[in-house]
Amino acid sequence: MSDTVPAAIAAALTSPELAAVVDLVAYPVEDADGQRAVMVHGQHGVVRLRAGERHDVVTGVDPVAHTDPLAFLPYESECAEPSPENRRNAYPEPARRLLSFFADADRSPDVVVVHTPSHYFPETGGHRGEHGSLDVIQSRAPFLLSGAGVSGRGLIPEYVRVVDVAPTLLELAGVPVPNGLDGTAYPTGESRGRFVVGLLWDGAHCSDLLALASAGELPAVASLLGDGLALTGGAVAEFPSVTLCNHTSALTGVGPGRHGILGNVFYDRARGERINANDESTWHRSAEWLRPDVSTVFEMLTAARPEARSVCINEAVDRGATVSTMQLLREVAHDGPVSALLPPAEQSPYLGESRHLADHYFRWATQVDDSGLNQVLQEWADPAAAPALTWWATVVTDAGHHAGGPRSPIARDSLRDADRRLGVFLTHLDSLGLREQVTFLLTADHGFEKADEAATGSWKSALADVCERAGVTYRNEGPGFVYLNVR
Ligand SMILES: [Zn+2]
Repeated sequence: MSDTVPAAIAAALTSPELAAVVDLVAYPVEDADGQRAVMVHGQHGVVRLRAGERHDVVTGVDPVAHTDPLAFLPYESECAEPSPENRRNAYPEPARRLLSFFADADRSPDVVVVHTPSHYFPETGGHRGEHGSLDVIQSRAPFLLSGAGVSGRGLIPEYVRVVDVAPTLLELAGVPVPNGLDGTAYPTGESRGRFVVGLLWDGAHCSDLLALASAGELPAVASLLGDGLALTGGAVAEFPSVTLCNHTSALTGVGPGRHGILGNVFYDRARGERINANDESTWHRSAEWLRPDVSTVFEMLTAARPEARSVCINEAVDRGATVSTMQLLREVAHDGPVSALLPPAEQSPYLGESRHLADHYFRWATQVDDSGLNQVLQEWADPAAAPALTWWATVVTDAGHHAGGPRSPIARDSLRDADRRLGVFLTHLDSLGLREQVTFLLTADHGFEKADEAATGSWKSALADVCERAGVTYRNEGPGFVYLNVR
């Protein structure tokens, strides 16, 4: 397709009337030499991005000129300027991430629209706290290593990428990292623990997590940090910085253009269907959408160590795990919502503030996470059968950050609740005498920024107008994924 229509959409959606709503609009193009490139439009200019982070400014000011993954550190500088406007913001590795995003022939949209960090869009599912953007804060997940084989170096001003999680887990498990992954292992020492535990706290805000741990408010995380290390730049999420795209990137070591899980909701041209992959009713089905030539960390572990058991708790991307929550869900024939199978939230011993149960998502997440802890303890009941690799995802941290945004009471309480559950597991490992043999990796799938409740509005009618003028049909999924010439 000619790039005329995407360019017209990008120009219309970056008009001054939409400045509070649209930060960036991007679409793929082909260079004269046949190489793939990405055009990125902002309010003040247009840039062409090519592999190797090459930026060729087309007009005005490069909208992704600042790319420092350590921007807004130390944390005080983020707090002083939350949800910054484009020219003050930073966008780590924009070419690599956007090129991956546009690499799937069937599922990548023709155009992607990125919200401003402060855009508030409750009418299409937006919350007080949001993520999904290319920018540094929404893309910054924590990255903490602790325990056997990890030196206690404390806070380090470095960063990795979410695609580095799988290779790091494999290396910690003594497995050679396969060639051809997008990610690489974070270097640790030569010594190895017997067990590896990966913790994904969904949406846990990197800097706030580290600040609360340092202030003594998250004792379990603080105890991990006490003999471990954390990167203050965290792990940079793949684009879009949404949940299922990044759970999959963490657990396969490749970006969305290769694993195929472009977002939580996307369209598949080959199937002719919309895929909603991150829903209470579909999250046990992700293996159906994962590209078959991509391996999960569980499959890579088994290929190298066939005897090694792996456990995957409350995680959609479970293909190849010996035991997983999603296997149980697939086996249990249930008619009602998953929550009907879960312990009641009111009786949760890890819930710090019962008023948060008024938030439907927080309530459901409390049930899911209590159930997750029970499964972890069950899988670790017999030390002789303890899993070589445990992956344990926590949901409530996403619920708390959506409900109030980073630093809000409900976001911080969600971190405290998650910390209590982690504390129970650490105490259990101590009681088995196994703690010294375990290496921990704590991460997340994305960061969070707070919306400005005055920054409302929508680019939907502008998109409809330009597509009507151009005479093209389109789908708008996500929202922000624009597929042209499909109904
Ligand atoms: Zn998430």
